Amino acid sequence: MGAGDFSINPYSPHTYSRFGPRKSSDFFEKNHHAPLTADPQCVTVYIMRDKAFVFDLDGTLFETSAKVLQSDPMVGPDYVEFGDAYKLLNESKPLPLIKLAQEVQKEGYRVFILTARRNIIAPAIKRLLARYGITAEYVFCVGDRGFDVAQYKAEILRELGKEFQTFFYDNEKPNLVLAAQAGARVFQV
Ligand SMILES: [Mg+2]
Repeated sequence: MGAGDFSINPYSPHTYSRFGPRKSSDFFEKNHHAPLTADPQCVTVYIMRDKAFVFDLDGTLFETSAKVLQSDPMVGPDYVEFGDAYKLLNESKPLPLIKLAQEVQKEGYRVFILTARRNIIAPAIKRLLARYGITAEYVFCVGDRGFDVAQYKAEILRELGKEFQTFFYDNEKPNLVLAAQAGARVFQV
């Protein structure tokens, strides 16, 4: 069989390169050891997962003034200030990690926010990020769900992990432990 006599396996990663279809001779050269049919054993589909950089907000990207107002052992901590847009926009200071968020975005990766704040504040978070040139792909706020913040964050990271190679930055260890179990690569701030 000559180099041009076979049909190219459409599932082969060698069939196309980023520069367009390869010549069949090129294909043959790289696959001369493999059968030229669509044998499942020699069909390799390379799907490179895009990278997602997921950042917690408070204590990770920004030093903020929001505090736990009170902690009731029956109902958990009261995060009322986590919904205060005025305080967020006027009293937040960027932390060094903001540079990483800026850089990875410049490199074309997606930036997500994953915070225990309440959903009502998502637009203010976007405005705050915009001041630093960051456009979040999505701002996940889990604060309306309850107090199992680490659990809710892990659930979202597990979902993101189906589509992206996920890198997660947070300043709270319990969040990172569950995030790692959910498959994210984690980094403590
Ligand atoms: Mg935090």
